[in-house]
Amino acid sequence: MNSKVNEWIEAHQDELVNDIMDLCSIDSVKGEALEGKPFGEGPYNSLHAAMELTKKYGFETKNYDNYVAAADFDTSLPRSLDMLAHTDVVPAGEGWTVTEPFKPVIKDGRIYGRGTSDDKGPLLCALYAMRALKETGVELKKGVRLIMGADEECGSSDIEKYYEVEDEAEMTFSPDAEFPLINIEKGHFNGTLFKDFKEDSNLPRVTYMKAGVAANAVPQKAVLRFEGLDFDKCADAISEVSSKCEVEITKTADDELTVVGTGAHASTPELGKNAGLAAIELIKALPLYKSEQVEMISKVTSLFPYGVTDGSGIGIKMCDEESHDLTNTLDLFEITPTHIEFTFDSRTPIMATKENCSDVAEKTIRESGFDFATDGMIPPHVVPGDSEFVQTLLKSYENVTGLKGECLAIGGGTYVHELKNGVAFGAVLPDIDTRMHGADEFFDIDNIIIATKVYAEAIINLCA
Ligand SMILES: [Zn+2]
Repeated sequence: MNSKVNEWIEAHQDELVNDIMDLCSIDSVKGEALEGKPFGEGPYNSLHAAMELTKKYGFETKNYDNYVAAADFDTSLPRSLDMLAHTDVVPAGEGWTVTEPFKPVIKDGRIYGRGTSDDKGPLLCALYAMRALKETGVELKKGVRLIMGADEECGSSDIEKYYEVEDEAEMTFSPDAEFPLINIEKGHFNGTLFKDFKEDSNLPRVTYMKAGVAANAVPQKAVLRFEGLDFDKCADAISEVSSKCEVEITKTADDELTVVGTGAHASTPELGKNAGLAAIELIKALPLYKSEQVEMISKVTSLFPYGVTDGSGIGIKMCDEESHDLTNTLDLFEITPTHIEFTFDSRTPIMATKENCSDVAEKTIRESGFDFATDGMIPPHVVPGDSEFVQTLLKSYENVTGLKGECLAIGGGTYVHELKNGVAFGAVLPDIDTRMHGADEFFDIDNIIIATKVYAEAIINLCA
């Protein structure tokens, strides 16, 4: 470790913290596109504020039509390492208690505010790592570039535009997640099972059910409507399902029940309480006329048992050492008297193939009597964990933190998803939930200093 660099970083803590607070006071939620401001006013202002800093600290800065800006350590060096961060944020949301989302404050050694840890704070850690090397006179042989996007949160159209005109660097890391390092994003497999019926008007019957807003989110709410059903006579069945599934079920109209569970991202379905599946359990438990529609709906509970998120019900439970378990969750639900339709989301480990995954799921689902549709499997994003690049990053992390460096595999996508040799690397230390995307988002000042040192160390080890 370079002690001069680390001392410089410690001596500039206040300045770094102030820069983070200034940048986080800009509301950079995506807005309506304006002339020259492709993501609206906020992301434009935030990108330009970040560019002011990179210029002020002496780095040549290039603007890519206000989609992205990039600052180079030294343009005379061959470009080799890119650090990819972003200046836009998700909407403030509700429930803030420490401060208002765009009025950052320091409390208990933390900066609170939207964007502090996702991703303005980490972006400035990377910038200060470059600055520390420059101001302490560290010479590099290979070039480092800080790429600053303005549309990560809404689909990464920013870097799509950037990579239309620039090549991917030999190595890229993104300080837009957590330490130690994410080198694997699981693959993706979605499917829809459905069935059409002739209407059966025998009572009591279910006439409507809907749950889910997107295939990639565990539904938090389900609404069901019935005909010819006396809810008072079913109180026991309703309360049994409610306590078994740990969801709330309330009567929201004369013929309507609403199930409220807990939403979650489809890459971590075990964190949710699936309101849609609880509603299916409810349909099964209620004294409905046994129509073909109800029989088919009941079969969903064996294909996607409540609380089971490993795909075992459709025969695709699998796990490998590098990328761990497959996850599976049924997220979109639609029921009418003549049509039922359900869509699931699976995040698949490296070992998953069409033969052992998609084909097996399809066979199991069709054998239960459903029709089935899928767009096929999307392969995982993998950068080999034993590559010199990854090993050097992990060693840099270990040297600075004294913690064990190891690779992580996740089910969600990161900013480097489309890059051949891109990994997510920091900036949040392990086992800390900084409430990214939630209320009271924060970033610990200790963490800020450590991350900056790790990035400086990594640049030296990769480029000096
Ligand atoms: Zn982010």
